[in-house]
Amino acid sequence: MSGVWVVLEERNGRIARMSWEALAAGHTLGAQSSLSVNAVVAGAQTDSLAGEIATKAVARIVRLEHPLLAVYTSDAFTLALEQFIRAEQPDFVVFPHTYQVRDYAPSLAARFGQVLIGDVTGIGAGPVLHPTDKDPSVGTPVFVRQLMQGRLNGEYSHSGNGTCFVSVQSGAFRADQAESAPASIEIFTPKIEQAQIRTKPGQPFRGSAQTVDLGSAQFIVSVGRGIKEADNLPIVQELATALGAELAASRPICDNGWLPIERQVGSSGQTVSPKLYLAVGISGAIQHLVGMKGSQCVVAINKDSDAPIFEIADYGIVGDLFEVVPALTEAVKSAKH
Ligand SMILES: Cc1cc2nc3c(=O)[nH]c(=O)nc-3n(C[C@H](O)[C@H](O)[C@H](O)COP(=O)(O)OP(=O)(O)OC[C@H]3O[C@@H](n4cnc5c(N)ncnc54)[C@H](O)[C@@H]3O)c2cc1C
Repeated sequence: MSGVWVVLEERNGRIARMSWEALAAGHTLGAQSSLSVNAVVAGAQTDSLAGEIATKAVARIVRLEHPLLAVYTSDAFTLALEQFIRAEQPDFVVFPHTYQVRDYAPSLAARFGQVLIGDVTGIGAGPVLHPTDKDPSVGTPVFVRQLMQGRLNGEYSHSGNGTCFVSVQSGAFRADQAESAPASIEIFTPKIEQAQIRTKPGQPFRGSAQTVDLGSAQFIVSVGRGIKEADNLPIVQELATALGAELAASRPICDNGWLPIERQVGSSGQTVSPKLYLAVGISGAIQHLVGMKGSQCVVAINKDSDAPIFEIADYGIVGDLFEVVPALTEAVKSAKH
């Protein structure tokens, strides 16, 4: 077995942010299990991507290259990674939980008689489940997944022999900053025939248009269902303007079409890490928290003192937003004068 292999993905010619988060998850696994952490990237020309990865702390980098990997297809990626995994026999394969990974990784895992432990939000050190293993002091990692729309956490561990396949949720791990001396870069050329590819790729799916880059905003005022109706949004917009902040929202606001989808924060929206995140009338569901828990300072306004958002807030205001927000806006404006 050859340690932890993280499968990194390209977007617009660069390694995508979620892949760095997957690498961070790979480092967590590597540290817990005393295994080397390695990276693999698939495509037709991956030299510059491998160069990007080489600045990070990885033992080996493999460029999985073939002309038929130029455009993503489930068949080509599954075939290529299957051959690579059979050759390397990793202990763990870690993916970012992207749309692409959701498409091919479950069938890839099935080819090895395994399941994909998908959309993992945390990795912990578990009890020793296999006392007959060579090193009984090393516990089996426990992977945390959300159940029942985030109301419960389930703990999963990999039993039996063979490779463990895991994908990690967007925002659940802080993008890996660990840097090191350049690692060795190798090329693996899979055997793929055109006739094995049964699908014709269309336009890649984009989660949102990303016309608003909340990811680089320093100040964010985010509004939730507590605002009650679209006509009330100017109250929070005024506070955002006074603070020089971007306006963001929880999912129900965007689902209702009150604000565009690119302003949604959370597991199916954008991941943000501003200096200030002001949550107005947001309960703090886990799917929202994973998108903003990297914020430096969280201020929450909610009329329910038991709202989960207060568990992660640095400052909490228990009150009616229709009273608190206009008062806060006036206070910010007069402080500026
Ligand atoms: C697969 C999946 C993906 C998801 N992705 C996301 C995502 O990316 N982002 C996201 O946000 N959600 C996401 N969700 C939805 C998530 O589970 C929650 O339903 C959602 O975050 C709740 O939004 P909310 O906090 O605005 O609303 P609610 O949970 O309804 O909370 C409203 C809050 O407002 C407070 N309130 C009401 N009136 C007032 C008032 N007058 N003054 C002050 N406070 C008031 C209430 O006390 C309450 O806490 C996802 C769910 C699933 C299943």
